[in-house]
Amino acid sequence: AKRQGRNTVQFARHNYALQARQRLDLADEMRVALREGQITPYFQPIIDLGVGEVVCAEALARWRHPVRGFVPPDEFIGIAEDSGQLDALTDQLLRSACAAAAQWHAAGLNRRLAFNLSARQVRPGVVEMISGVLRETGLPAQRLEVEITESAFIERPELAERLLRELRGLGVGVALDDFGTGYSSLSYLLRFPIDKIKVDKSFVSQLEGQRQAAKIVAATIALASSLEITLVAEGVERLGQMLTLYELGCRQQQGWLFAKAMPAAEFEQWVRSAPL
Ligand code: C2E
Ligand code: CA
Ligand code: CA
Ligand code: CA
Repeated sequence: AKRQGRNTVQFARHNYALQARQRLDLADEMRVALREGQITPYFQPIIDLGVGEVVCAEALARWRHPVRGFVPPDEFIGIAEDSGQLDALTDQLLRSACAAAAQWHAAGLNRRLAFNLSARQVRPGVVEMISGVLRETGLPAQRLEVEITESAFIERPELAERLLRELRGLGVGVALDDFGTGYSSLSYLLRFPIDKIKVDKSFVSQLEGQRQAAKIVAATIALASSLEITLVAEGVERLGQMLTLYELGCRQQQGWLFAKAMPAAEFEQWVRSAPL
């Protein structure tokens, strides 16, 4: 048992080194990827079941690596942050997503665009970056919303509050992502200018088995409605979840039941032909 223990430790160390090496490699490969346009936004529809329409597209970054295949964003966003490439990556993604949305707009599809900002991006300069991209792509600010998580508020709440109010001033919406997974969501709702909350998929996935999950979702829906905040449920995979959510009063939903994220042109096709 002792020997096995030692091997395990060695294996763990080796594995750690391997992971560190892989992160360094990926950081280098990201410079190439950004140059060659391997990282692009895909778009997942958000549906309003009340009116039976796609109301919004959430941009989700996809890296098609020529050798490794798809690298998940949870992995490469962190690498971009640690290797000083987050700004370059975001600029490219936002520009490309806004250009796609402006084109849908020109084609008569007036859908909103939701764009994820990581906590580290809620800092000085972000408002100018976003307004610059809006100006250059011609997307009206009212068509854009940013999705952030509570972690954006923790380190410098005064700054976060000011930046979000500036974005709001431009007409850009603010959505609170992964709602319910953090610690003090309720006070954040009062302090920060939040237009929308996205109920985390962990609640949606427990809806059918766990009575408590449905109660939490019901309470969240009531809270959002009394504060006049739009609510979206994410991670809807099954018909039963969709119906339960709808019966609880949640009209806006997003998840694989409807569609996964897809490239811009495919999204446009999907919106035109979706059987809603
Ligand atoms: P998120 O913003 O919470 O995005 C939702 C994630 O759930 C996405 O994973 C989406 O593909 C996935 N999803 C959608 N519907 C379903 C469903 O029905 N079931 C399940 N199990 N999952 C579903 P994805 O695309 O891998 O993105 C993971 C995270 O990476 C995102 O979480 C977001 O935090 C981050 N991310 C993605 N794109 C960007 C980006 O452009 N910028 C930044 N800063 N972060 C990004
Ligand atoms: Ca999101
Ligand atoms: Ca989320
Ligand atoms: Ca998330």
